[in-house]
Amino acid sequence: MNRRSILKSIAGVGLAGLMTPREQRAQQAVEKAVRGLARPKIKDIAVIETAPAGVRLDVVKITTDQDGLYGYGCATFTQRADLVKPAVERYLKPLLKNHTVDKIEDIWQTCYDSSYWKNGPVLNNAISGVDLALWDIKGRMANMPVYDLVGGKCREAADVYAHADGGEIQQVIDNAKRYMGQGFRNVRMQVSVPGYQGYAGGGGGAVPPVKGLAAGPVFEPLPYIRRVLKMFDAAREQLGEDVGLLHDVHERVTPNEAVRFAKDLEKYHLFFMEDPLSPEDIAYFRQIRQQCATPIAMGELFNSPHEWTPLISERLIDYIRCHVSQAGGFTPARKIAILGEQFGVKTAWHGPGDVSPIGHMANVTLDVVSYNFGIQEYTPFNARTQEVFSGCPVCEDGYLWPSTKPGWGIEVDEKAAAKYPFTNPANGLNGGWGELRKGDGQIIKQ
Ligand code: MG
Repeated sequence: MNRRSILKSIAGVGLAGLMTPREQRAQQAVEKAVRGLARPKIKDIAVIETAPAGVRLDVVKITTDQDGLYGYGCATFTQRADLVKPAVERYLKPLLKNHTVDKIEDIWQTCYDSSYWKNGPVLNNAISGVDLALWDIKGRMANMPVYDLVGGKCREAADVYAHADGGEIQQVIDNAKRYMGQGFRNVRMQVSVPGYQGYAGGGGGAVPPVKGLAAGPVFEPLPYIRRVLKMFDAAREQLGEDVGLLHDVHERVTPNEAVRFAKDLEKYHLFFMEDPLSPEDIAYFRQIRQQCATPIAMGELFNSPHEWTPLISERLIDYIRCHVSQAGGFTPARKIAILGEQFGVKTAWHGPGDVSPIGHMANVTLDVVSYNFGIQEYTPFNARTQEVFSGCPVCEDGYLWPSTKPGWGIEVDEKAAAKYPFTNPANGLNGGWGELRKGDGQIIKQ
């Protein structure tokens, strides 16, 4: 036995430096075969459009040249859902066909740079669909859920908040009590403002709608702010201090009103106040920070690092809550989470009904692997949604659990998905939102 053979027999076959190039290639081939790491190529990329809960969802399916190996990703931008399909199938598919599936970061950057102009919601969602599908494929190849691929859990499940809505203040509080009875520890509280078109809350109540100078619904910030403060007064009195209470302003007030509103809410010790400002006004977060300690959550409308980076690095918010597919997928969202950890900013990923179950699985995966997890928005999956998507995340006692199956752990029944096509509602807007105006007729943010 010569010296090389002796060393190999002592140290095993891992000492590549002691092998000839031919021996190294042979060993790599054996390792690939043994570990199933042959590198499949992308054969097709298609978008599945479905609306099982009446909300338009876009799901990207990547199939590979390896039999039975495929993956799903969320690309849902419900207000412009019809535009995502061509962005994926006419632009990303020809770009990525025959690429190997293994280099997710490389593929993400390839897609991101290919449009030259970037950081828009349609293109980001298209990239997200591909990105999540590749993580799904990698998980299926490794026989691991994605949370294991990125290092494993640092908590068992994600604490969530439920949506308590109502036309009247007492209705909202009663709904919150119902959720607390089901084990939820955190509740978002939204109440209607009589006569006005509010966000959530379920309509303006029994009062006739306020008529403005333009036809259609009207919203005014000051009656809304007064109503919400009244609601939290009653809520803290009836619900006590132990429950986490949240509220979404939905960027419907002016910057100065937002500063005062945050100060007035301080005494109710909210878990967080969400979106007090629109992305165009983010410089005002500094003023809120200087004047009160109400925790602030922001980010569901963000598409660009130029939006989230300054708010995180200057510690101007407490929770970053991007819509993962709007931000471009799991790959950039994980970077956002890690950036947040360095600056003491927690995560609260956007989790409404206009995220597909695959997007929700990406959310809860980030929740269980990120040390700086804050809270997760929760929306239940109805029976039709579970008919299309088997393996949705499960919520028990106010905790959301990711699947333990490989990848995202979700299978899409494409025949069932086809039973719930996009339909155009009576307003003819293809899922887009209509108009909201102030009493004087000025259009405002919704
Ligand atoms: Mg929101």
